[in-house]
Amino acid sequence: MIIETRAVEPFLKNGYVLGCEATREGVVIDPGDEVDLLLRAVEDHGLTIRYILLTHAHLDHVTGVADAKNALGAPVGLHRADNLLYEQVVQQGLMFGLRVQPQPAVDFFYDGQGPWEFGRHEAWVYHTPGHSPGGVCVAVGRKGNADRTLFVGDTLFAGSIGRTDLPGGDHATLLASIRNVLFQYPDPTVVHSGHGPATTIGREKRTNPFLI
Ligand SMILES: [Zn+2]
Ligand SMILES: [Zn+2]
Repeated sequence: MIIETRAVEPFLKNGYVLGCEATREGVVIDPGDEVDLLLRAVEDHGLTIRYILLTHAHLDHVTGVADAKNALGAPVGLHRADNLLYEQVVQQGLMFGLRVQPQPAVDFFYDGQGPWEFGRHEAWVYHTPGHSPGGVCVAVGRKGNADRTLFVGDTLFAGSIGRTDLPGGDHATLLASIRNVLFQYPDPTVVHSGHGPATTIGREKRTNPFLI
């Protein structure tokens, strides 16, 4: 599977382009201020993007949705419990002293549906609240194969966990999401976070100071 990661100042939030090498279908995850770089990666790989999937609706993860949707024509998915945050993206920007453009309405809520398919791969979405009410983990793998690669948004980081002091955040809920959803995956499972480097489930189980 093609995995391209891009991040830019000020949030250094990771946006992702995933693609199927065989069919050149793909998905984009969390387009933010780095959206132009993501679109270039889509073009470089010759991908047709089927879906734009959002892990949650904090502004750093959604400021590129309008540009991505205009360029790619793909529907945008979000967990229903983060839609209020999503609709308040302009106000979120004001909290950080940033001018943010309103974003187009999402096209579908996950609502326990799925998988969302791109070529020979499929993305399953699991609710992992705590950092935000509608945070999700996007678990991606080949059809007919149990191995998954996780895109966890701001729930879990290499050596850290998501902040829970923003509206709708809750520390105990976040820990429960990590233990009950993310830590159910095998140790070698690769984890791509919303910020910073990738890690694995096993490494975080052994070394993450918030979880050991
Ligand atoms: Zn966040
Ligand atoms: Zn973030």
